[in-house]
Amino acid sequence: MLVRMPEVVVYSSGLILVFLAGSVLIKLRFLAFSIASWLVIILYIIAGFTFQVNPTIVLSNSFFFIGAIVIGMIAAYRTEVFNRDNFDLYLQIAKKNAQIEQANRNLEEKVAVRTKLLNDRNRELNDEVKHRVIVEKELIAAKERAEESDKLKSAFLANMSHEIRTPMNGILGFAHLLHEAESEEEFNEFVNTIIKSGEHLLNLINDIIDLSKIEAGILKIEKSQFELNRLTREIYDMFSANQHIVERNIQFGYKDGLPDDNCLILTDRVRLKQILINVVNNACKYTDHGSIEFYYKIDGENLVFVVKDTGIGIPEESQKHIFDRFMQASNGKTSGRESTGLGLSITKTYLNLMGGNISVKSEVNVGSEFTFVLPHIFETQKTLTNDTI
Ligand code: ADP
Repeated sequence: MLVRMPEVVVYSSGLILVFLAGSVLIKLRFLAFSIASWLVIILYIIAGFTFQVNPTIVLSNSFFFIGAIVIGMIAAYRTEVFNRDNFDLYLQIAKKNAQIEQANRNLEEKVAVRTKLLNDRNRELNDEVKHRVIVEKELIAAKERAEESDKLKSAFLANMSHEIRTPMNGILGFAHLLHEAESEEEFNEFVNTIIKSGEHLLNLINDIIDLSKIEAGILKIEKSQFELNRLTREIYDMFSANQHIVERNIQFGYKDGLPDDNCLILTDRVRLKQILINVVNNACKYTDHGSIEFYYKIDGENLVFVVKDTGIGIPEESQKHIFDRFMQASNGKTSGRESTGLGLSITKTYLNLMGGNISVKSEVNVGSEFTFVLPHIFETQKTLTNDTI
């Protein structure tokens, strides 16, 4: 019918060509394209012969179509191979990308670890620097203290030779003069001067010995039980006859904080007596009129001693230095008084060794009040026999 007409043959050939071109254009897969196109050409040839179309036309068309099919097959094959290559490439790229991402992640982790290490090291270095700055400051302070102490020691030695020579001259000078005394009164006066100079020398030597014991670290605190009121009485008796006090008519008094029949305490009696002597002696030495009193009170387990005078007072700027070794207050009124600048420093060291402390309140020309505290004075004997420092 349709194929039999020559123009229809041409028409159907055209259709086959369109099919071939379309199948290439829509990228029909190689196998599907080959089967479909060979089926079409076979059907075309069968239809041509079945309907007795001019064989020359059918054959020539068929050759033409076979050529087109071969070219189409090559194109389909090429497309497929190209696609497959592309796909493989894509897979490889994806794999590489994954590897790159993994490497990136590893790198970031390494960077994070290194950053943390660096930060830690940085912090350590900062701490180290801070520590070194502190140590450096401490070293500078220690060096300054050592230099200061060295200077003070040299000054002390120079001072000491003078301090020792003065009473020695007094002793020897007046000892020689004894032979020449013209009256008994003069003789007694010389003897008194010798005794006074001797006592002064002894005090000085005691201070120096105490100081060297403290320096050598061999000073021991030995606690024992004793009646505190007896000790305060001894101190009172010792100073009530003090020439300086008597001559100037200074009122001298004391008050106990415990009853006589219940005043047992446990501490180092010898040191406590030395402390009291030092502080009361200072009050006598630096007071020219008015009064001097000392008293104690009990505050829980602590013994609080107060020594008060209406003496020359201590300037505020000197108050923090008077407990340092070889330090004297600079109020211009200490001259003429036997002074070494050691008493309070020894006192403070004793108190510290006994666990206590000392402080001062003072006003120039009004007076001074020294307060020292000793802790645990009621501990049992048993606990304290081992407690020697
Ligand atoms: P010293 O009395 O031998 O100089 P201290 O260490 O006992 O040594 O005292 C240090 C300084 O403190 C004294 O030189 C004095 O200036 C001052 N001082 C101590 N006690 C008193 C006081 N009760 N009144 C005024 N000044 C005092």
